[in-house]
Amino acid sequence: TITSSRQAIALENQYGAHNYHPLPVVLSRGEGVFLWDVEGKRYYDFLSAYSAVNQGHCHPRIQNALIEQAGKLTLTSRAFYNDVLGPFEKYITEYFGFDKVLPMNTGAEGVETAIKIARKWGYEKKGVAENEAKIIVAENNFHGRTTTIISFSNDANARKNFGPYTGGFVKIPYNDVTALKSALEDPQVVAFLVEPIQGEAGVYTPADNYIREVQEACSAKNVLFIADEIQTGIARTGSLLAVCGNCSCEGHCERQETYTKPDILILGKAISGGFYPVSAVLANKEIMDVIKPGQHGSTFGGNPLGTQVAMTALEVVRDEKLAQNARRLGKIFRERMQKVVEKYPIAKSVRGKGLLNAVVINDSEESSTAWDICIKLAENGLLAKPTHGNIIRFAPPLVMTEDQLHDCCDIIEKVISEF
Ligand code: PLP
Repeated sequence: TITSSRQAIALENQYGAHNYHPLPVVLSRGEGVFLWDVEGKRYYDFLSAYSAVNQGHCHPRIQNALIEQAGKLTLTSRAFYNDVLGPFEKYITEYFGFDKVLPMNTGAEGVETAIKIARKWGYEKKGVAENEAKIIVAENNFHGRTTTIISFSNDANARKNFGPYTGGFVKIPYNDVTALKSALEDPQVVAFLVEPIQGEAGVYTPADNYIREVQEACSAKNVLFIADEIQTGIARTGSLLAVCGNCSCEGHCERQETYTKPDILILGKAISGGFYPVSAVLANKEIMDVIKPGQHGSTFGGNPLGTQVAMTALEVVRDEKLAQNARRLGKIFRERMQKVVEKYPIAKSVRGKGLLNAVVINDSEESSTAWDICIKLAENGLLAKPTHGNIIRFAPPLVMTEDQLHDCCDIIEKVISEF
């Protein structure tokens, strides 16, 4: 058993692949917005496991759902039907307003699934010649770590020496509708895959009308608009989905007319509140029905444990009005950080939406300042991590209260004032 942080870190260093560079904090317990390390020190979580724990750590309702289902049935594979998958499929398609869902496990698998569906749709419905389909993607995207997905990344570190790469992807600048329209002129294009806010790239929020214009431009050219909402979805940005934009549905997309609907929606992370890997690809019948038995699948995808957990996690988002809370607290956070930016030159700017925000540190991408600030934040009881060199992402669980948020802003301000 682990009795000290030092011991746990030494074990990971010795026995684990070094594919991450964590902050030197060893966590052993979580509850709501809080995490505790093995020495018992308490922290505010400002990463939420990259937005997978929107409902807060160890949410009791989701925990009960998991325990109860774990005592009944956990995995059947899709060789047989199970009594949770159907209800889950009905629930999630109604929740997001699509005809059909294809359940997977990780975000990257969801993206791979969407790519396969879009290509097959392109050949069988749009009439593109076999093996000629192209998918447009945005520069500085992050969609996961598989060989195909890194093939269209432009992060040198994520790509180098992992080739040969998968072809069929065309990169255009993000937040540039003119570039999109020009790329859409190619009749072999079947889809545009995009994040409504680029999370990993450093929380880049596009122009207010970008997503709507993307949807219109794609639709005009019979090209599928694929939204990767793995990080931005499930209330994180102050609406149920980031593609809801600034609509007045209070985060629940009941007014479909204000919902800029993608043709394919990819969800992951918080769809299960951090309890279990669940991802989902949603689309209408004409698109989803191109997939026939034997053409795609996953042993664990759609299993009773994951789907029961996901249904409960989505209920929590709705019942606890997490989108509304994220919207309200996000405004307060950015207002407070704006004051910090104005007061301390080391903080350059703040941006974001809902509770997906970033503070840009006034130093080069290669400098260690953002990392050093995160180390100091941890010492002061708040966990956050730089995304790209000089950008610190701030994304707490959405169950945070206003008092807690102010407490956290005090910590951030104090630490930044010391740099
Ligand atoms: N897409 C986006 C937008 C993400 O932020 C992530 C994860 O950070 C992924 C895809 C990949 O998800 P996973 O790590 O579950 O494969």
